[in-house]
Amino acid sequence: MNIALSTDKEIRKFYNRLYLYKSIFYKGIKFRSNTKDVDLKNIIKALNIKKRKERIAFIYDTACKKIDDLNKGINICGFKNGQCFVQQKKDNGKYDGCCRRCKYNNHGCTTSNLACKLFNCSEVKDRYKVYKYEDIKILKLLNLRQRELVRSDYFSTREEVLKDLYSRSFLYSVTKKAIRQAKWNFLKK
Ligand code: SF4
Ligand code: SF4
Repeated sequence: MNIALSTDKEIRKFYNRLYLYKSIFYKGIKFRSNTKDVDLKNIIKALNIKKRKERIAFIYDTACKKIDDLNKGINICGFKNGQCFVQQKKDNGKYDGCCRRCKYNNHGCTTSNLACKLFNCSEVKDRYKVYKYEDIKILKLLNLRQRELVRSDYFSTREEVLKDLYSRSFLYSVTKKAIRQAKWNFLKK
């Protein structure tokens, strides 16, 4: 199925129809488009991945890569002698910024966590261009429950987040959210 994505109107129409294109009704359909836009190309690529888990993993990794590419070569949190902008400013003797009490921190993140990548405090936002959640268009392919998870699944490995995204249970998501909130309340102290 060829999709025209040249004009703003066509692109708007495409995004409005995504809920349909990602549904079971288009399971056997191969999507094509000659767009040069990287976000749109990646969305088409994801739509052509018909296995659920593979598509979710592709969406997650593509979103992480978009943020990593933007921050490449930039010390975005201003780390100096182990302290980020905020810790230097507060001169509070704490190290490793937001990651300081996370078990996946080894003076830097040892995994790939999208929620953490999307979190930027005002010290960072005042200095650099950062992506907001809404800028990561490929996340439109996730359902509401999954979108909520990727926004809040801090302090978890890539594999743990993917496991959460693969789950179809609403109860599981609510429980995970409560656990994350408790963890966050503890870690931010
Ligand atoms: S987001 Fe802000 S508080 Fe967190 S590590 Fe970066 S500079 Fe520090
Ligand atoms: S998972 Fe998040 S909090 Fe933990 S080390 Fe990685 S970026 Fe830091």
